[in-house]
Amino acid sequence: MRILVVGGAGYIGSHTVRRLTQVGHDVWVYDNLSVGHAAAVPDGRLVVGDLADSVALEKALRDHAIDAVMHFAAFTSVPESVSEPARYYRNNVVGALNLLDAMRTVGVGKIVFSSTAAVYGVPDHVPIPEDSPPRPINPYGFTKLAIEHALADYARAYNIGFAVLRYFNACGASSDTSIGEDHTPETHLIPIILQVALGRREHVAVFGTDYPTPDGTCVRDYIHVEDLAEAHLRVLARIEPGKGLTYNVATGVGYSVRQVVEAVRKVTGHPIPVVERPRRPGDPPVLVASSQAIQRDLGWTPRYPSIETIVQSAWKWHSTRPNGYADYKL
Ligand code: UDP
Repeated sequence: MRILVVGGAGYIGSHTVRRLTQVGHDVWVYDNLSVGHAAAVPDGRLVVGDLADSVALEKALRDHAIDAVMHFAAFTSVPESVSEPARYYRNNVVGALNLLDAMRTVGVGKIVFSSTAAVYGVPDHVPIPEDSPPRPINPYGFTKLAIEHALADYARAYNIGFAVLRYFNACGASSDTSIGEDHTPETHLIPIILQVALGRREHVAVFGTDYPTPDGTCVRDYIHVEDLAEAHLRVLARIEPGKGLTYNVATGVGYSVRQVVEAVRKVTGHPIPVVERPRRPGDPPVLVASSQAIQRDLGWTPRYPSIETIVQSAWKWHSTRPNGYADYKL
């Protein structure tokens, strides 16, 4: 299939591009490089363009005779979405609608959309099943849920076929360390702790120690980026016109912030000093998702189910490339 991966120079997008390419798909990347890295994209496959630019989007879809789109180009920081909601709604909602409308104009009928466990808010049941009612508690979750609704409506009215993958804490790197996680500024827990292990930060701040969880810190479901990429590949093959699929992609196992810190101590041998800080706005106490549906329907299963193997994978990348993509010679 000819696939346009929008946001394919970013963290999860680039790992998915790699997987799609490995199995023989003809893959193109559309990315404005605002947070992505050209070095993460295979040679000659990058179209630099913005989601706001409908003409450029339509041209990319036409030029490469695209059959299906994968959409990763979104802002993903919960605290940022709380302090800068306008930027989040503009990019994540208006940008995604531009993409859907460009697909309609050109006649591209399939899309895989990156959603998030943040659409569930504070769930009634953990691990969260897909039929749990979505009730976001932060702007990031609302922007993703808005597009989930748009997809269902576009499928009914315009016959597009879609898959929504809801995932949470993506982490780890490609096993050969050729691509990995590199955000500036970094806000995510595992890379931040690894920066402490590399001597680039003095300590890690733990945001909130009074949550109703076993050790008082937030619990999250950490899913390896290669497991996410595999889920995208498999779900693409199941999309049908006018129909939608929605799956969680998760391990079903939660780890607290303190447990993640402990795993990093074990893997790196660094003491990792911790300072306790107040809660971060927008953080639900526990987000752990059930992935039974995707395991049953697509035969997908996580290859990195434990936090230690995930941290090992991330550590391999960060210790080999301490400056991320700045360490690449293009
Ligand atoms: N967190 C933390 N210190 C940090 C960064 C994150 O305690 O420096 C916590 C954060 O409050 C959340 C968890 O780690 O409970 C995971 O946060 P991250 O930003 O990695 O991902 P999110 O869950 O927001 O998608």
